[in-house]
Amino acid sequence: MHEFPSYDYKRIPLYKDVTPEQWGDWHWQMKNDIKDVATLEKVLPLTEKDKVDITEVLKRFRMAITPYYASLIDPANPGCPVRLQAVPRLPEAHDDDCDWDDPLHEDVDSPVPGLTHRYPDRVLLLVTHICSMNCRHCTRRRLVGEDDITMNEENIERAIEYIRRTPIIRDVIISGGDPLVLSDAKLETIIARIRAIPHIEIIRIGTRTPVVMPMRITDGLVAMLRKYQPLYVNTHFNHPKEITAEAREACRKLADSGILIGNQSVLLRDVNDCPVLMKKLLQKLLTIRVRPYYIYQCDLSKGISHFRTSVSKGIEIMENLRGHTSGLAIPTFVIDAPGGGGKTPAMPNYIITSNEKRVVLRNYEGVITTYDEPSSYVEDCGKCRICYDEPQLNATCGVARLLSGEEKTIEPEGLVRGARLVASEDKVFRPKGLVRGARMKNSDHH
Ligand SMILES: *Cc1c(COP(=O)(O)O)cnc(C)c1O
Ligand code: SF4
Repeated sequence: MHEFPSYDYKRIPLYKDVTPEQWGDWHWQMKNDIKDVATLEKVLPLTEKDKVDITEVLKRFRMAITPYYASLIDPANPGCPVRLQAVPRLPEAHDDDCDWDDPLHEDVDSPVPGLTHRYPDRVLLLVTHICSMNCRHCTRRRLVGEDDITMNEENIERAIEYIRRTPIIRDVIISGGDPLVLSDAKLETIIARIRAIPHIEIIRIGTRTPVVMPMRITDGLVAMLRKYQPLYVNTHFNHPKEITAEAREACRKLADSGILIGNQSVLLRDVNDCPVLMKKLLQKLLTIRVRPYYIYQCDLSKGISHFRTSVSKGIEIMENLRGHTSGLAIPTFVIDAPGGGGKTPAMPNYIITSNEKRVVLRNYEGVITTYDEPSSYVEDCGKCRICYDEPQLNATCGVARLLSGEEKTIEPEGLVRGARLVASEDKVFRPKGLVRGARMKNSDHH
């Protein structure tokens, strides 16, 4: 069996008198979040330059590190991948030319505050701006990193009301911040209201607590969550070092309650930008019953450009996965397209060429083969009744409408040859008839 280290926090002088009960209590962990240089210095050796740099960054973004996550940092290694995710570095104080405040347009695509309705059938609901640990690479730092505001009840109710009156939504992602910083009772009032909406099929919770504060996954929490199935949890492991005995226990509790756990890693320079390390992480996740779901290309948020890798690094990682290891271990590599374009998959090319008769494929070994297309395939639609019974399933948008023949072309709104005289100030060109564009025009919020 694999080894899952359990870190000895008592080796850190500041925590030598902390009892296992305190250490294992998530309220204690949050109350003792490391938020300033003076406390951090008692946990980790810091150079004078480190202290000056961190102080500079703290003028701009906040720091919070749970004692648990801090105890995973290797004090002897300034490049420790856990440390890089937790301890500020000077480049955070500077913006890159391509940094955006809200690169994913989560605020723009927002019909009510705290709710992003980007894709046709699912929404992202931000229920708090607080996290137990502030990841240095956080993409929502315009909300999370700057100050602590919990979404107030009035906004949450407005968002839930929007979900109630929008029957096309079948999937609600509860995120933040980290929704698991809320008490079980508070969280339950939100989940129960969403579960009571007849058209909501699944609920997902996005939380990094299994990684940064695994003691949050208590028996009480899972007993509450299991009442609201089908429920999925997506978490955020980035490095094999984070897979400790405590993290495994948190995932065991969730999984034993029938909750399926997915993982969303972010590709980060000097943390996990290596095919060998990434493969190890993904394989190890399966052993703690976590299914890799996404690897994200690092976003263009402010002050995180020092974490960015080239997109080609992600492609190389994907090349090293398919065929080389269990398909279950293989996530989708996505670039969340700036400007609200959404998750866009990127992967190596496996189809070399094709004609009507056959497709030429290459596999991971470099073997090139052909797949013969069926000689007499004609689709025979109209026998099943799904489209008639549920017309909303058949209401396509985007590129799928080109295939269905409902649309001949999709053109950017500011097409130069179409209207050479119109000078658009909008730096994002939007295809005509964009569904989420229309949603915004109907919305009462800006
Ligand atoms: C990521 C995301 C979702 C969920 O996308 P899936 O591909 O279904 O996991 C939904 N809404 C927004 C705004 C998102 O960023
Ligand atoms: S847990 Fe998620 S939302 Fe919170 S700081 Fe980390 S990346 Fe940001």
